[in-house]
Amino acid sequence: MRSESSAERRVRPPLAVIRERVPILLLAEHLGLPVVRNRAKCVRSENHAHGDRTPSMSLDPARNSFKCWVCPEVKGSVLDLVMQVKGLSLTEAADYLAVEFNSEIASDTLSITKSAPSSSVKQPVSGQIHIENKPFFDPALRTQILIELLKLTSSPDREALQYLKGRRISAKTASVMKLCSVSDYKAVSDALSAKFSKEQLIESGLFNEKGNLRFYQHKLLFPYYQNGIPVYLQARALDNTIVPKELNLRGAIPCPYNHDQLIRSPIIYLCEGVIDALTVIEHGFPAIAIPGAGSFKNEWLSLFKGKRVYSLLDADIAGKAANERLKALFSTAEIDFSILPIPEGFDINDYFLGKTWKK
Ligand SMILES: [Zn+2]
Repeated sequence: MRSESSAERRVRPPLAVIRERVPILLLAEHLGLPVVRNRAKCVRSENHAHGDRTPSMSLDPARNSFKCWVCPEVKGSVLDLVMQVKGLSLTEAADYLAVEFNSEIASDTLSITKSAPSSSVKQPVSGQIHIENKPFFDPALRTQILIELLKLTSSPDREALQYLKGRRISAKTASVMKLCSVSDYKAVSDALSAKFSKEQLIESGLFNEKGNLRFYQHKLLFPYYQNGIPVYLQARALDNTIVPKELNLRGAIPCPYNHDQLIRSPIIYLCEGVIDALTVIEHGFPAIAIPGAGSFKNEWLSLFKGKRVYSLLDADIAGKAANERLKALFSTAEIDFSILPIPEGFDINDYFLGKTWKK
């Protein structure tokens, strides 16, 4: 075991930036809390009579905070909301928001709270998180580390293939999309440690703060390639009881999943999440994925020039809100963008199995 004496560092957008830039209203809807006139059902609805039928939780867009008028512990920032709804730690909540609201956080122009009085809501203080001025990890080093990692992985093992099969994704698609497994955890961990410093591996997001490879339970890896080069990675737990289901690397997501399809195909299906994209690819359609409904970055727009884009974002509130935003965005760029409505009660599989879909 390696010593843990060296300063441990986390690289992600500073918490203050996350607190300020992720819009509380958008987040509430993203988390499946319908908002009506800046109110939503309390996240501890079991504390309320009638399950909080008349919503008691106020959302304050000016302060970017929330508060239940009944439950004293239900209050705080966007980070607190994620921690309470998803049962995550502060660092996990920050990682979650960094991915799901990547474009909001990366944007210099969008800041709904800058002019508001700075938070009168008490934030949990965390002494152990060191915040870097440089928020994002060096992409060139990340690629070097990823190339090494991918050499050490194997094609999806039996357990991973079983998981994919349960989502109707075949071994052939897994192979074409270069999905892989961390089958020998120790060998992968040791080989990476021999090539890179502990700090580099922690900063890249492959290792946790204790200096251990993070993919012990998250064994199925989805590499993101850009022009044939690995630039990013998501890892998936095969057991659905594990929280979070997915792990992401630190730093900005450089491109949509399956970027290179954008080079090859004039028609593109835009999906939410890698699994959905793989499902669509399985059915023979050219698909790419953004990690979450709110995570499309404006600078990706140019990748879609001259394409015909069909959106298959989820039919939930967050997906619908994202569709509206993307429709406006693509329209200003004069890119053909259509929303394929997935009927209530159908998932993307049903849709592509032809139950409702007409060419
Ligand atoms: Zn409450």
